[in-house]
Amino acid sequence: MDRLSELRRPELVRRMAERLRRMDAPPATLMEVCGTHTVAIARHGIREALPEGVRLISGPGCPVCVTPQEQIDFFIALGGSGRRQAPAERTGRRGAETPPYSVRLATFGDMVRVPGTEKSLEQARAEGAEVLVVYSPMDAVEAAAREPAKEVVFFGIGFETTAPAVALAILEAKRRGLGNFSVLCAHKLIPPAMTALLESDVKIDGFICPGHVSVIIGSEAYGPVAARGPARPGKPCVVAGFEAADVLGAVRMLLAQIAEGRAEVEIEYKRAVRPEGNRKAQEMMAEVFRVADTRWRGLGTIAGSGYELAEGLAEFDAARRFEVKLPASAEPAGCRCGDVLRGAIEPPECGLFGRECMPRRPVGACMVSSEGACQAWYRYRGQEMDR
Ligand code: SF4
Repeated sequence: MDRLSELRRPELVRRMAERLRRMDAPPATLMEVCGTHTVAIARHGIREALPEGVRLISGPGCPVCVTPQEQIDFFIALGGSGRRQAPAERTGRRGAETPPYSVRLATFGDMVRVPGTEKSLEQARAEGAEVLVVYSPMDAVEAAAREPAKEVVFFGIGFETTAPAVALAILEAKRRGLGNFSVLCAHKLIPPAMTALLESDVKIDGFICPGHVSVIIGSEAYGPVAARGPARPGKPCVVAGFEAADVLGAVRMLLAQIAEGRAEVEIEYKRAVRPEGNRKAQEMMAEVFRVADTRWRGLGTIAGSGYELAEGLAEFDAARRFEVKLPASAEPAGCRCGDVLRGAIEPPECGLFGRECMPRRPVGACMVSSEGACQAWYRYRGQEMDR
């Protein structure tokens, strides 16, 4: 039996859950910062296996959810059917082009239904915007290559997991001399967000660190979270895989660290994650991006928590290539995605959860995305609240 099949054995999961439930653990609040973990925890009922006094809360681990409203509005506006956008407001910075643009918007499917201030990409498409749902950033490069007369802008969202594929696409567009391809770069970096959360009013005693992100950045990247300095104690970090047994094991490892007064970075997901990560992917990201202060939905601007394109690649940067003037963006009334994303509340504490807001008619980003905490709660725990 291979390792994965072994981890999925119901008998093993049952035994691990029972062992965890009976663990003599200190009271603790643990945060997962990965949308895939959020879904796994809800799907497998991991919360029911926690010892008394131990809580699991979700953090900013859903890539679609953390993308701030103003970047979504900007992207929609690029397609020409954005809110209150007279052609005169769209002034190109490239001499050869004159507004209005004919921009094809390329994005991952999860983003299409996320509400902007006035509309989603889905609604923009219904009004005539060209929205291309792609499975890979390279699909957007191919679309640009097929129709050189048409601008293609790819929405680069997500964490260190997706950034290498976007970097590769930009390098490929450069290699092929595609002058009609660009990226709206909204990539976020997980470790700085974790450190920022420790400075906030949310009580966190340990982190379940994301598996996919850690394959790229390595477990060493969480060193500053576990060891912040004498005046500001760090918190235990455990990198986990995505099977129920992985998450149960990671929770147990975190509780053991807390009980022993340790704050270290440990790897539960040893079959995929190395301390140093994937050096080749890191080198490619360093070539294409530079670290920048970045805004997150719910967390505000965090120093050094995102990417923008390196100076030498400015021609592929949609934010520099197109200028779109928009009124201030606004979150949907009553939506508390920001509080959900920083772990300040659980989804059912939002007054709209399961009432005005549910997966088939979402109000906020956390209910749209399959990795959003609100959708995960609703799908696996909250259907009874659908009235
Ligand atoms: S339930 Fe809906 S409106 Fe409330 S925080 Fe979640 S996504 Fe936002």
